[in-house]
Amino acid sequence: MKSLAVVPGERYSAHLIDAPVPDVGDGELLIRSIRAGVCGTDREIHQGLYGKAPQGSDYLILGHESLGVVEKAGRGVAGYDLGDVVVRAVRRPCGCKNCSAGSNDLCPTGDFTESGIKELHGCMAEYFKDSPAYLFKIPRELADVAVLLEPQSVVEKVWRQANLIQRRLIWEPKKAIVIGAGPIGLLQSMLFVAEGLETYVVARSKYGNVKSRIAESVGARYLSASEYSIEGIRKAAGLADIVVDASGDSSMAFESFGLCANNGVVCLTSITGGDKAYQIPSDRFNLDIVLGNKVAFGSVNANRVDYEIGIIRLASFMERWQNSLYSMFTRRLQVADCVKAMDSDSSDIKTTIEF
Ligand code: BGC
Repeated sequence: MKSLAVVPGERYSAHLIDAPVPDVGDGELLIRSIRAGVCGTDREIHQGLYGKAPQGSDYLILGHESLGVVEKAGRGVAGYDLGDVVVRAVRRPCGCKNCSAGSNDLCPTGDFTESGIKELHGCMAEYFKDSPAYLFKIPRELADVAVLLEPQSVVEKVWRQANLIQRRLIWEPKKAIVIGAGPIGLLQSMLFVAEGLETYVVARSKYGNVKSRIAESVGARYLSASEYSIEGIRKAAGLADIVVDASGDSSMAFESFGLCANNGVVCLTSITGGDKAYQIPSDRFNLDIVLGNKVAFGSVNANRVDYEIGIIRLASFMERWQNSLYSMFTRRLQVADCVKAMDSDSSDIKTTIEF
């Protein structure tokens, strides 16, 4: 089967391979891919900054944003029919307490595996296999956009965790600022607008591009970081109750603290595999967080519950903002051309590989 693979740790190693179709054992399903989404993490792995091959393999099949159809079922699988449309969860548990309690997204050991990222082949292949514990059934009417379920699960987790953390006080969030207008930034903004928050999106691209058009089509306000300094953003937007950094840039992640109101919460989501260093005014930075009772947290991956809420949320986005969701699909590549997915420019939001 045609698959997009890398040699983890090697720079620019993505290449098309012909890999064996996985053998389906008892309790497993064989899934035929419809499409796979490409994200910044895939490109970091391609650049040799991240990722690990499965044990015994010298390559890793990329892909953690999946969409496929059940093609074959092993013995003992209940609840799935051939032809069902499914999305696959990214992470698999290790044996730790959090993983065993169903929170492998909060695994502290690092011994989990992740499809297409860490020690488990991914879904940028004509077929992949999995057990029902790691699959989500997708309603047919969502099939066109359901490859966005994985990033949607990530933004659902951010919101769920922020609300859990903020139970420390009476929190009635009214304003959100999202840094970054890639798929995570835009889906996070849609979530905030849907939750009734006045929402600002800050990103590098100039005003008037596809990203600002999508942000504004859902009712958020777009401020270009090439036109506004952090001080300018603070003036234009005011301070926010929740700030989410999804810029992919660790210096922006630190700058985002300056946009957070007292008692507010900052969530960092960018995966920055490089070694960029950045100086901060540490006295002022520290004082601001202490005196403002501010909280910062990192968030990665998602729980099953976040995927489940994500399905409901995508359905509501489809009713409200179908065209905006469709506009996020900026490039569709056929599998023969899939290596091109590793390049992207500022106008690209979601590239998909079509199988
Ligand atoms: C994925 C997460 C994953 C993380 C770190 C992200 O791109 O969305 O599911 O946990 O990378 O590997």
